[in-house]
Amino acid sequence: ARDAGPGNLRVFKPSLQQSLSERIGLENALKEALEKEQFFLHYQPQVRAADERVVCLEALIRWQHPSLGLVMPDRFIPLAEATGAIAAIGSWVIDAACRQLAEWRAMGFAEVRVAVNLSAQQLLMSDLGDTVQLALQRSGLRGDDLELEITESVLMQDPQRSIERLEALRGLGVRLSIDDFGTGYSSLGYLKLLPVHAFKLDRSFVRDIGKSEKDLEICATAVGLARNLGLEIVAEGVEDAVQAAQLRQLGCHLLQGYYFARPLPAHAATAMLLEDRSG
Ligand code: C2E
Ligand code: CA
Ligand code: CA
Ligand code: CA
Repeated sequence: ARDAGPGNLRVFKPSLQQSLSERIGLENALKEALEKEQFFLHYQPQVRAADERVVCLEALIRWQHPSLGLVMPDRFIPLAEATGAIAAIGSWVIDAACRQLAEWRAMGFAEVRVAVNLSAQQLLMSDLGDTVQLALQRSGLRGDDLELEITESVLMQDPQRSIERLEALRGLGVRLSIDDFGTGYSSLGYLKLLPVHAFKLDRSFVRDIGKSEKDLEICATAVGLARNLGLEIVAEGVEDAVQAAQLRQLGCHLLQGYYFARPLPAHAATAMLLEDRSG
């Protein structure tokens, strides 16, 4: 192996070599993305089921790379987790979302809040509380102006430690929600212990709610469970009026999905807030 000649390179199939170099390219580009200010946030509204007023805007990260174009989070968040870049990126997201909310507050939107997604590693980082507190302070916001979304499967990776971290965050007054609810195999006994404010019913159950009795039952059960625990329930991935009506009837508090709005650039989200206020 020591005197590996050029011939040895042929053990790599071209396709594998390509995906490897693509990965390395992405990884290197990711290192510079933050300082080159290539990240930005889109905001997707969550509306109250009762009157369809916007109550929350979920920040969703985007990466605009000069040659790769627009890179979506599913492609680079896992890489950022693997390389440790997620720490700085995650802090940037929290700060940027808070700054944006401060702008909306200055425009007189007193009721809306922002939601930010947390990655697995972020939840376990010891300085997350400081990061959140600093972002709130800098923007002049209160704890409950910010909601943090954590997926059920992330919590299940280290259930006991997760509860401790959630309790510390809750101590700052921020709202907490369980994202992709129903996909993480939590036991009822564990769910009961989680110090959270809301469940976000996963899109996969919402999708076929009109076609599948079973999915309808799952949605009904999730809504019932949340309500019995005194929690809010948000349905994500609502794509049409029929789904919206069914979820409203089941008792979902908040609805989110393409039917109401796609993730929007900040200026378009502002336009939607203005329209929401006048209508
Ligand atoms: P998520 O938190 O479950 O976000 C919902 C995803 O579904 C978003 O994809 C959103 O654009 C999409 N979506 C919303 N409504 C609908 C709908 O009606 N139909 C369909 N088919 N899709 C809908 P996006 O923006 O590509 O984000 C994907 C995932 O990346 C997010 O899933 C979240 O887990 C992660 N992510 C996004 N931003 C961040 C971030 O700032 N930090 C971290 N750690 N993760 C993030
Ligand atoms: Ca989310
Ligand atoms: Ca989700
Ligand atoms: Ca998801």
